[in-house]
Amino acid sequence: LNKYYLIESYRLETEPSIIISLRDITITKNFEKIQKDFISNVSHELKTPLTNIKGYTIALEESIENKDDNVKNFFKIINSNINKIDNLIYDFLNYSKYEGFKILNLSYIKAEELINETLFGLTLLINNKNAKIQTNFMLFDENHYIYIDVEKIKLVMKNLIENALIYSSKKPEINIEILEDENSYIFKISDNGLGIPEEERDKIFEKFYRVDKSRPMNFSGSGLGLSIVKEIVHNYNGEIKLTSESGLGSTFYVIIPK
Ligand code: ADP
Repeated sequence: LNKYYLIESYRLETEPSIIISLRDITITKNFEKIQKDFISNVSHELKTPLTNIKGYTIALEESIENKDDNVKNFFKIINSNINKIDNLIYDFLNYSKYEGFKILNLSYIKAEELINETLFGLTLLINNKNAKIQTNFMLFDENHYIYIDVEKIKLVMKNLIENALIYSSKKPEINIEILEDENSYIFKISDNGLGIPEEERDKIFEKFYRVDKSRPMNFSGSGLGLSIVKEIVHNYNGEIKLTSESGLGSTFYVIIPK
């Protein structure tokens, strides 16, 4: 049944009997397991780039001594592994920051400003990929003000747009829309990328899950981006929907209550 119980017994001095208590500690045990798994996954993910850095530092030293042509290349490899560690730590910190965090810090922001600030953080990737990004806002307020937890929604949008840019083997074309109805805001992000096979669609929101590592645009991500998105949206009492067609692209919908 995957249940854990703590059994304790007490002898009563005044009476010839024993009290046996059975305490359900499943929640604590499961939490301990999640924590242990998380730490072991984090260590495992950090170990690979660190091992690479170690190896290439030795190779670099030899190359410098022998004055051969590999120096520049080894520096590049070391640098990309350092970037990987940097990204992993950024994601780990964000994940622990938002895990179970239900307090909302609501304020008004213009939809355009939200998107521009999010895209600004992705400038390098957008330019590298030569991506085309279109936006569309259909909002009640004529000045496009929305009332949200800006920091959290920005991180959700950043992770979704970043994925839309990365998981594509052609020039990315991304549509970002913000819509609203009486009760909710809807953030819609569509790409023309690799698509996500049907059997993977639930799994990609799990911690550290990555679709087949042999996919063409294998990017050294942490596998935490979408779990951060899920954590934030669930704590917001919102929902995420996903439609996708292999080879044609994906659309993520984030729906949050007003
Ligand atoms: P990461 O990007 O660090 O691997 P994520 O949790 O953000 O981790 O995504 C999990 C996996 O889901 C990715 O490895 C990728 O295979 C797949 N994925 C996410 N977004 C998209 C997308 N827009 N198009 C195709 N595949 C995607």
